[in-house]
Amino acid sequence: DRALADVERATAALRADVARREEVELELRRRERELAGFAGVAAHDLRSPLTAASAYLEVLADDESDRLDTQGQEFLGRARSAVARTDRMLTDLLEYATAENKELNRAHVDLAVLAADVIAERTDRLEPDPYRVTLGELPVVSGDRGMLCQVLDNLIGNALKYTAPGRPPRVAVGSRRIEGGWRIEVADRGIGIPFVEREGVFDAFHRGDGSAGFSGSGLGLAICRRIVERHGGTIGIDDNPEGGSVFWFTLPDA
Ligand code: ADP
Repeated sequence: DRALADVERATAALRADVARREEVELELRRRERELAGFAGVAAHDLRSPLTAASAYLEVLADDESDRLDTQGQEFLGRARSAVARTDRMLTDLLEYATAENKELNRAHVDLAVLAADVIAERTDRLEPDPYRVTLGELPVVSGDRGMLCQVLDNLIGNALKYTAPGRPPRVAVGSRRIEGGWRIEVADRGIGIPFVEREGVFDAFHRGDGSAGFSGSGLGLAICRRIVERHGGTIGIDDNPEGGSVFWFTLPDA
């Protein structure tokens, strides 16, 4: 009887523990949604004055720049790149809010087509020659096309970005069947992520130790995680045995 009572006590304690954890988890999710909502509104409101500033700077650059002296031209260039950087951050903030709050618009999505588009766009923007991205087979899945495109774009973009200076990035995109769905992988030969940092990089605004010298807002992976979770999948990082990291995410069968 005593043994039975012990087991019952232990079970009750365990249940209470699980319930507490679920509560904490829910509270975290609530705060994250609140933060994303605020970020979206702030980004939206900041965009109008920034667009105005940007328009004036472009007029200066197009029509008046020959009237500026060397220093004036240099300042104009710096102002334009600061505005462009701010604009990219606002885009990230808006995407973060969208990933959190927008309804999923489900369709059959061919990830191979999405990935090919992303790679073409990403490698055109960079110098095409030394960059190498190999694209393996990818499945057709059920999901929100725009959101899944953002996931691939962020992961492939990071894989190209976080490479030691002077070394051409090498990226491999592929997938394999797992129980109940698919696992999609983006493998790079870049700077890698220390084990202790791996949980944190998926948090909003988190920038890793290795990110010094690379521009970014720290929102890309938070956006990816939210989108993947809303599709019923999970996201994570493995070591690439050949050096670098493998970012993967799963998507369940429809
Ligand atoms: P951002 O790139 O804007 O900093 P992300 O959310 O996309 O934001 O990434 C968060 C952090 O994770 C980065 O600052 C960087 O430290 C690390 N990281 C992301 N992708 C990679 C990668 N492929 N290789 C190494 N580090 C990475």
